[in-house]
Amino acid sequence: MSKQFLVDLKDLAHEKISFEASFEPGVVDFASENVQQVGPLKWTAAAERAGNEIRIAGSLNTNVELPCSRCLEASRIAISKPFDLFFRERDKAMFDEDEEIELNEKETRTAFFTGTQVVITDILREQILLALPMKALCRVDCKGLCSHCGMNLNSGSCNCPNDDFSPHMDTLLEIKRRLEERGS
Ligand SMILES: [Zn+2]
Ligand SMILES: [Zn+2]
Repeated sequence: MSKQFLVDLKDLAHEKISFEASFEPGVVDFASENVQQVGPLKWTAAAERAGNEIRIAGSLNTNVELPCSRCLEASRIAISKPFDLFFRERDKAMFDEDEEIELNEKETRTAFFTGTQVVITDILREQILLALPMKALCRVDCKGLCSHCGMNLNSGSCNCPNDDFSPHMDTLLEIKRRLEERGS
């Protein structure tokens, strides 16, 4: 698939390596049905050795679709994100230590990898997922779904009882009923 988009520690001994590509949907697997890439994912990255670490800096541009958190219709989000990441080869000894290792600020933003390679698609997936909003809306004033019949209220209104009022009313009636029960 994209074997050439690996950063290998061995290749970075003396030189910086630059990458640039455009991925069609499917190259980066988001492992979620809810996240769909729409159109190309354009990215550039440069990898260099920084001491014991690999530094990979670049940027990405793409569009993804997420279900609107109110009406569940697809809502499209443009993502444009720079990144500057440090990777350190996973060191066994580090994890065998009993005493706690204090992490300084730089270390907390260092990811670890096993072997000698860092896979670019993994970076892209993570960066895109990080850029997603907690709640996606198809539009700011999305009316959502009717809580009775499930109709999408953006495309019309249904004949259900007034939605703003009834759930509230039910709760009040329920409280009143319980109070009456207790009183009797
Ligand atoms: Zn919506
Ligand atoms: Zn309804």
